[in-house]
Amino acid sequence: MTQHAPADKQIRVLQLYPRDMNIYGDYGNALVLMRRIQWHGFTPVMLSYNPGDEFPEAPDILIGGGGQDSGQDRIQQDLLGLGDRLRSLAEEHTPMLMVCGLYQLFGHFFETRDGSRISGIGVLDVETYGTDNRLIGNVVSESADFGRIIGYENHSGQTYLGPTATALAEVVVGEGNNQRDSHEGARFRNVLGSYLHGALLPKNPAIADFLIGTAVERKFGEGLGPLKAPQSSPETLQRLTELAREAASAR
Ligand code: GLN
Repeated sequence: MTQHAPADKQIRVLQLYPRDMNIYGDYGNALVLMRRIQWHGFTPVMLSYNPGDEFPEAPDILIGGGGQDSGQDRIQQDLLGLGDRLRSLAEEHTPMLMVCGLYQLFGHFFETRDGSRISGIGVLDVETYGTDNRLIGNVVSESADFGRIIGYENHSGQTYLGPTATALAEVVVGEGNNQRDSHEGARFRNVLGSYLHGALLPKNPAIADFLIGTAVERKFGEGLGPLKAPQSSPETLQRLTELAREAASAR
């Protein structure tokens, strides 16, 4: 049997529509995955897909961010063209994280305030309606799968779960999916949808490790070992403390 060196063990992370759908620090999710995949002893490969591109082969993890209504409008046709492929990847248990604008479009549709509909691909059984209220602020939520999930929300669309959708978490502070129920996000198999930016993964590493662990299990049939994160030097920690103090006193 060939023993692969860890360097051969690639985990391919595909960012969907980073040009149009990437706000409030969502790119941080890609950075966290890259670094933690390395710390887990695998080789991260970053791929991106924008409208009209050729769809990259065999992605192991898919991530997507938020965007303005206009950005959602721009990617709509292209996303619908990817619908079958993304639905099959979801059915096959591929891990994915879709935030805000792409969370909405992984549902059935986003009806904007002027009544026009941006169609989604229905991976998640959710519907979204634009409102005159923007829901803005920090969110604390509790998830049966991931424990406490924290982040920042900023959206005018309000999302409702259909009969086959499961909430990702229940809101403790903030609004989450909408102002009527306490759900935040949705989950289908290993596809997670969430309103939380911030970015989400730096604040919630358990979710990053869920995405990585699931990808590793599916691809290599093994579990994640202990994290081999390098320790920060005392000088770095000292400098970070100074920077945090300066930032606090500048407010
Ligand atoms: N445009 C959508 C809304 O306002 C999504 C916003 C976002 O991705 N932050 O609801």
